[in-house]
Amino acid sequence: MKLDVNVLRYLSKEDFRVLTAVEMGMRNHEIVPCELIDRIARLKHGGTYKVLKNLLKHKLVHHDSSKYDGFRLTYLGYDFLAIKTLVNRGVFNGVGRQLGVGKESDIFEVIKEDGTVLAMKLHRLGRVSFRAVKAKRDYLRHRSSYNWLYLSRLAALKEFAFMKALEEHGFPVPQAVDCNRHCVIMSLVPGYPLVQVKELQNPDVVFETIIGAVTRFAEHGLIHCDFNEFNIMIDDDEKVTIIDFPQMVSVSHPNAQMYFDRDVECIYKFFAKRYNMSFEENENDCDGPDVEIDEVGRPQFSEINKNIGFLDKELAASGFTKKDQHELEKLIEGELEENSDSDGEEDEEDEEDINTTNVKQLESLHLEKQSLLLQEDDKHQVVDEHDDNDQVGDKEDDHEDKGEESESEDDAELEKSLSKERRKAIKAAHRGKRNFASRNTYKDKGGKSSQNSKVQKQLSGW
Ligand code: ADP
Ligand code: MG
Repeated sequence: MKLDVNVLRYLSKEDFRVLTAVEMGMRNHEIVPCELIDRIARLKHGGTYKVLKNLLKHKLVHHDSSKYDGFRLTYLGYDFLAIKTLVNRGVFNGVGRQLGVGKESDIFEVIKEDGTVLAMKLHRLGRVSFRAVKAKRDYLRHRSSYNWLYLSRLAALKEFAFMKALEEHGFPVPQAVDCNRHCVIMSLVPGYPLVQVKELQNPDVVFETIIGAVTRFAEHGLIHCDFNEFNIMIDDDEKVTIIDFPQMVSVSHPNAQMYFDRDVECIYKFFAKRYNMSFEENENDCDGPDVEIDEVGRPQFSEINKNIGFLDKELAASGFTKKDQHELEKLIEGELEENSDSDGEEDEEDEEDINTTNVKQLESLHLEKQSLLLQEDDKHQVVDEHDDNDQVGDKEDDHEDKGEESESEDDAELEKSLSKERRKAIKAAHRGKRNFASRNTYKDKGGKSSQNSKVQKQLSGW
């Protein structure tokens, strides 16, 4: 995927404000109604419309008017939000070439101010199998945050937490540097994935290191679950680094034995095929430089002394909770399933979920959000549509241009106004008002929302 970060330079404070508003709206809308974006962003004089047009031009948002007029973030839009946050935090200040394309990620070089090069992994969960994920309605049906943003973000958080914990336990993994949204920053691993390495000086040493790592993972209560030549990097000195952790599971997982055996089998098979290693017991090898390793030495899951608790204690402490783990595991299982749902059916269900939102759901969503906050500067808030009598938008004059330095003040203000919105929504729902209108029942009632309506009209022509 192309990541033209030059566009970043041309994006204004307002652009990011509206992009953030779309992101916030996506907490509970797959397509965020224009009216809601406008209300969250609170730009003056229909400014949201102009900004959305610009964001659309740069492919940071996608316009959808199939059911109602609205927008969703594109991967690129989400990338930009994460990149901007990390740049503001001083983690890096430039994006370089693409290092790899995984099945569910894009990896780029990023450059720090002092010239150090790091690796940035942008998770793309759902790129291949979002539909399959959606098929798991049993566990996702009462969530409004099932979308790819949430899933990619969960995968990134997990990867970051695991990488950090593994590194602290001396495993040969990249150094985990930072994480925001669906983006993980880690040290750059020198060398290449093993799959690209035709010959090794010491295949037996490399093999033993790799098999030793898989055994040690299990001793620490973990199974990699995607342990193969694509996720093992090797440098010119044949030093091994293991990457790619979003699918790791605990040794207490019901399928742990199968996952472990599969990981081990992958390595045995690859080394036998690529480096002509022979694992047959007592095999007499007369065909050249093959390395013999006894089948007897193959690690057995049942014989490993597992120290379960590592995951629960250390990973929970690092922000990735057991609940997160559970959800992601279900998701990974879901990916294996064929999806037979039609889009239409899914959308109808989604509509139903949102229309029946009540105070309880709203509050629990808020709590959930609290537990999902990855970083202090995340600005997700749970908001929903409001009735037409609210006062949002009346204070548009608060948003005079303030210059770059006041950006954080702006964010704080945005946070404040969103909290106010949420409180109002909860209060209104307590009073029994029909507060959470159907996404399809937007009507222009004039009056205070006339500005929003204007935006709505302009956008509906797209
Ligand atoms: P996926 O989960 O999509 O498979 P990976 O984490 O396996 O993603 O990364 C995909 C590719 O990106 C790897 O095969 C490797 O070539 C490259 N890569 C990933 N992480 C790093 C890193 N820290 N340093 C250098 N290259 C990396
Ligand atoms: Mg991989």
